[in-house]
Amino acid sequence: MARILIIEDEQDLAGLIEYNLRAGGFEAESANTGAGGLAKARARTPDLVLLDLMLPDVAGSEVLRMLKSDSELRKVPVVIVSAKGQEADRIQGLEAGADDYVVKPFSVRELMLRVKAVLRRSDAEEAPAPLLTAGEIQLDTSRHQVRVKGEEVILTALEFRLLRTLLERGGRVQTREVLLSDVWGIQAEIHTRTVDTHIKRLREKLGPAGDIIETIRGVGYKLNPP
Ligand code: CA
Repeated sequence: MARILIIEDEQDLAGLIEYNLRAGGFEAESANTGAGGLAKARARTPDLVLLDLMLPDVAGSEVLRMLKSDSELRKVPVVIVSAKGQEADRIQGLEAGADDYVVKPFSVRELMLRVKAVLRRSDAEEAPAPLLTAGEIQLDTSRHQVRVKGEEVILTALEFRLLRTLLERGGRVQTREVLLSDVWGIQAEIHTRTVDTHIKRLREKLGPAGDIIETIRGVGYKLNPP
């Protein structure tokens, strides 16, 4: 369910939008100041922000600028909802990174359609999650997440890279030296035991599913796709 954050100081209007969003199957919450809106967005990243330009504390344009300069929130689509309907205002808003611009007064139905259209567009833009799987192991490269039989397994960044490398090269033997250089970024023939230690830990974390990582004695490791 998509979460919409409404930053709007007119309580009645915010309430009306919230009500309609919920009726339309969205999760909705609102903030009546720019600072409050930013705090809510930072506490829990919304899927879309409806932003009023004339707020009591800071200008909506400033809120937009702050959203767009926040690495976590930069990609959250923003729809400006404003009484400032001049072409120059619209252009300014869109240039500042807003995804759409709805002029007050607006029809609630139109606003819902715009919200849905923007969400569809932003879904389409998200790169398809490259998912690597082998047996019961599933590695989501974009979310940096590993699951075994659907259960999340917490790996260190290094274990994640190690598993990812093995999955990407499934069926091919990887020497310790190659793993050291590709996973650790170390060009050395010493410390190859480091690889063994990490493989051991990775196997432990993966449980029985980790058996698909095969040891090739004296050489290295190989992941056997089932
Ligand atoms: Ca206002």
